[in-house]
Amino acid sequence: MDVHESVLELVGGTPMVRLRTPEGSAALYAKLEYLSAGGSVKDRIGLHMIEQAERDGLLRPGATVVEATSGNTGAGLAMVAAAKGYRAVLVVPDKTSAEKIATLRGFGAEVVVRPGGLPAEDPGNVFNTAARIAEQTPGSWLAGQYDNPANPGAHYATTGPEIWRQTDGRITHLVSCVGTGGTISGTGRYLKDVSGGAVKVVGADPAASVYSGGDGRPYFVEATGHVCHPETIEDVWPESYDQDVVDELVPVGDRDALLTLRQLAREQGLMVGGSAGLAVAAAQRVAAGLGPESLVVVILPDSGRQYLSKYFNDAWLLRLGFLDGEDDAARAGDAVPDSLRDAPLPYVNRLSTVAEALTVLRARRDLGLPPVLPAGPCPVGPDRRPTAPELAGSVSLDMLAAAVEQGEVAPDALVRDHLAAPLPHFGAGERADAVLAEWEQRDDEVAVVLYDGHGIGLITRDDVRKLL
Ligand code: PMP
Repeated sequence: MDVHESVLELVGGTPMVRLRTPEGSAALYAKLEYLSAGGSVKDRIGLHMIEQAERDGLLRPGATVVEATSGNTGAGLAMVAAAKGYRAVLVVPDKTSAEKIATLRGFGAEVVVRPGGLPAEDPGNVFNTAARIAEQTPGSWLAGQYDNPANPGAHYATTGPEIWRQTDGRITHLVSCVGTGGTISGTGRYLKDVSGGAVKVVGADPAASVYSGGDGRPYFVEATGHVCHPETIEDVWPESYDQDVVDELVPVGDRDALLTLRQLAREQGLMVGGSAGLAVAAAQRVAAGLGPESLVVVILPDSGRQYLSKYFNDAWLLRLGFLDGEDDAARAGDAVPDSLRDAPLPYVNRLSTVAEALTVLRARRDLGLPPVLPAGPCPVGPDRRPTAPELAGSVSLDMLAAAVEQGEVAPDALVRDHLAAPLPHFGAGERADAVLAEWEQRDDEVAVVLYDGHGIGLITRDDVRKLL
């Protein structure tokens, strides 16, 4: 019989398929990690880390596997734990898609949801929460994918040799995302070792990720790159990421990654996740710069079915400013005065003092904004053009100034402790008539317009009315 005795035999061993590239450029092959039994590249480390812990005597029958995970490592661990009879407790950040969380629970794991985007030192962040659960649970083992050598080890032992065999040793370039760094470090190291250093290794990285020199602000492609909260004191990079293996890092913006993944589904029949869209966008650039004698391999970590409510949902993309709209109707973005489009959206840093915030708010009077705005609310985010998840709240010049004058708020208090609700937001590509219809139902005076997930301006209801 051509059968398997356990799902564990169906981890990895994924096929490769050719992607279309312009004539004259390098051949591009995608390794479809979503065809592994648990649905992602992370099955490999789920199995490898657990079996290494068993060999090291750290995991005994009936024990509990604990991990902080954005979902896929959780699914890999939960699947292997289910097949081997371990309990699993997984801590995920709240931006994790609902589909991923449901998958973990489906495997019988206990899921603890904690706010994402907290500073490294915050005891409530996912990593510190997982460590605490592991400490307090007798007989438990913390997988620790960020620093566990069995993470890159899984890829050195399996992903690398598979690619070498599947391409008959003809691979010249590997393109991979970098999250924990396990995939690129293990696969890349193997391919360099076996080719005598000939294979070039390219990291595909979100443009805002600190790995490729970004400022670490949040972005919308899940599960890859490295964000750094502005309040983090010491930004520690994972030990699983071996930077020496990487020859080049290619930064890719959210819009490029998301439009590439939609194109892959519509034009090549491959429905993959956001990080796969990002990796393919980078791989297409790499392939375009090489001749037909080169062979590029890109790793596609997971399936698009995990993100149907996000990347394949037009309403989600539109609201965040990732779609422009196809007809020539007036759009929310048209309400942002041209003079402000290229100037940074005025906003207040949540860590500034109330006195500093008042200075920013008063300075906005000189920007020639419509009269309602300087007195109206101002979005609060970190000290740079804020991304939608960073719009932590708002402050109003009138209210804040009055509170200081009446001695209710000290000028040296932090703004983050005196926030009003975050402003609503619309995507620049949303039709003005639809925006107005929705806005008529609400009281908000001012809204933020987003393009590519970033605030580009503030608008009032009147600004939108004037477009119609
Ligand atoms: N893409 C997805 C969808 C992932 O789940 C992960 C793992 N977090 C990565 C990319 C990055 O892989 P690695 O952690 O091996 O660098």
